[in-house]
Order: sequence, then C-alpha cells, then structure tokens
Amino acid sequence: MNFRLQAERREKPSAERFLLKTGGTMTDVIRLRLGTSNAYLIGGKNRRILVDAGNARKEKKFLRIMNQHDAAPSEIGLIIITHVHYDHVGSLKAIRALCHCPVAVHADEKGILDSGSGVLPKGVTKTGKWLIGLGRRLLRFYPELFDFAAVDAEIALKEELDLTEFGIPGRIIFTPGHTTGSVSVVLRDGKAFIGDLAINYLPFGGGPIFPPFADNAAELLQSWENLLAQNIISIFPGHGKPFSAKQLRRVWLRKMRQVVNTGT
Ligand SMILES: [Zn+2]
Ligand SMILES: [Zn+2]
Repeated sequence: MNFRLQAERREKPSAERFLLKTGGTMTDVIRLRLGTSNAYLIGGKNRRILVDAGNARKEKKFLRIMNQHDAAPSEIGLIIITHVHYDHVGSLKAIRALCHCPVAVHADEKGILDSGSGVLPKGVTKTGKWLIGLGRRLLRFYPELFDFAAVDAEIALKEELDLTEFGIPGRIIFTPGHTTGSVSVVLRDGKAFIGDLAINYLPFGGGPIFPPFADNAAELLQSWENLLAQNIISIFPGHGKPFSAKQLRRVWLRKMRQVVNTGT
C-alpha cells in the first residue's frame, strides 16, 4: 500500500495538518492542541467531525486554528468525546455553541458530562499513582480543579456508531480501560483517534505507552488488542504526536509478555 504520513507544521505548535495517502485517496486531519490535550478535526469541506474539545477556555484558539485552515465551525456536523475528563471536554460547551452541532458521548459517561464534576482516574503506573496522589491533595485546596462547563449531550452511545451519515467513512468503537465509557474513532483508511487509550507524551516516555492513569488496566490491554484487530495504520492520541499501529503492537506484545511472566 502506498502509505505516507506528512505533517505540515503551519503554525507550530498550535496545529499540525496530516495528509495521509492510502492508495491515492487523501484524508485531511488537523491536530489542534487545545491546552494539554489534542483535539482532531477530521474530513474536508462541509463534512467535518471534531474529536474532543481540549482544556477550558480554548475556544478562541480553536477559532483561530479553524480560520488558519480555512475551515468554519458550521462545517462540523458532530463532536465526539472520547471520554469525560476535564482536559478533553473543557471547552466543549463553548465550541458546541460555535458549531451548533450534536455531541456524542458513551452512555456510561453522559451523566458525568451533564454534571460538570470532574472525576480522577486511578493511577496504574508509579508515575500515575504519584500524580493522582498529588491531584487528590490539590483537590483539598481547589475542590473545583477538575470541573468543567456541563454539557447535555444529544447522542448517548449505547452501541458503536457508523459515521457515514456524517460524511465520514469510519465509525465509533468502544475501547474501555482508561475509563469505562472510553471510545475511539476508526476511519476506513486506517487512522484511529483513541483519546487516552495510549499516550505519546515525553514526560512519561519516548513513544506510545500504556497511560499512567486507567480505571481498569486489564480492560485497557484488551482494548489495545481489539483496536489492533481493526486494520489500523496510524494512531492519533489525546496526548502527544501520532504513532504507527506497529509501534503500539510492539508495546502491547511487551506488556502481554510481562503479564504472562510476572502476573502484573
Ligand atoms: Zn483521560
Ligand atoms: Zn487526557
């Protein structure tokens, strides 16, 4: 397959455009860095979807990046939330008001999105446990630290959703582990947008790794396996730069060997 991943760094570090060539077709993906996490604008003129909505108060930056890429908020037909953590839904309310489009979230997390109350995941690695401990201590001083503007989502996903009706050749699949209601978007051309199912963030390592936070680590590994069974080529995480499915497979195999050998 003629596969090429290009990154045009137009206004580094706010956004990068990825043009993925698979057998002659090209799909546009723009990575929007809205605070500490990535949101992704997928698709072309008048048939776009947005995956995630960044930290709070990033709507102006969102608009600026949209303008720079000659894209209008009204072209977005759906906002998909990979999971309800404050760093992925912080600007959701403001961005939805600009797009006037429905929001889709897993049914299990709709209540959290409705409430606007932040929840902290469990730490599964040493770093993760330390960071969550720090987060809990901070909550004593700033009880609303992880809260966000509440949003009543129009679509509560009880099953996986085909995105063809939104003009995007792909679907939403369920990938629990980081949170119970975590979802990923998988496109037919082999791109996957996975939220925090795996991260690629330097402070935690130099490549795709097991996230330091997860509600259920065993479930998360199972979701990696399910994702890798979808014929994916490239992975766009909620934190850090894209990486290949081959890289994820390598880490998955290493992790599985560790589980078999040590039981952890
Ligand atoms: Zn998260
Ligand atoms: Zn995150």
